[in-house]
Amino acid sequence: MSKQSKTSSIDHGRRGFLKTASVGAGAALAISVLPSLGRAEDLPHLQVTDPTAQALGYVEDTAQVDDKKYPNHKTTQDCANCKFYQGTGGEYGPCQLFPGKSVHMKGWCSAHADKA
Ligand code: SF4
Repeated sequence: MSKQSKTSSIDHGRRGFLKTASVGAGAALAISVLPSLGRAEDLPHLQVTDPTAQALGYVEDTAQVDDKKYPNHKTTQDCANCKFYQGTGGEYGPCQLFPGKSVHMKGWCSAHADKA
């Protein structure tokens, strides 16, 4: 075997190893992330005392909204019909505006936007 073909063989083997290692690492990452996605409704509930929740006037019941403070609020608006809500059943579900937390399906905040 010539020196050049031996080097090429080593490079090919190294590339194969790196390709296999990266696929393995990707699979391990996917496996570690999947269980948390499967329990999205089990996320901690967003507290009305959370500073961001307070800034957006979040409440767990749309009927409790202070209409003087939020005159554009409608009682028909709630998290379940907001485009940022990602719940798929159950009382609580994830909201894109509050990553890592879940909001009540009957809740509301001033960022509410009707689902299309
Ligand atoms: S953005 Fe929508 S889903 Fe999220 S808390 Fe506000 S009203 Fe609820």
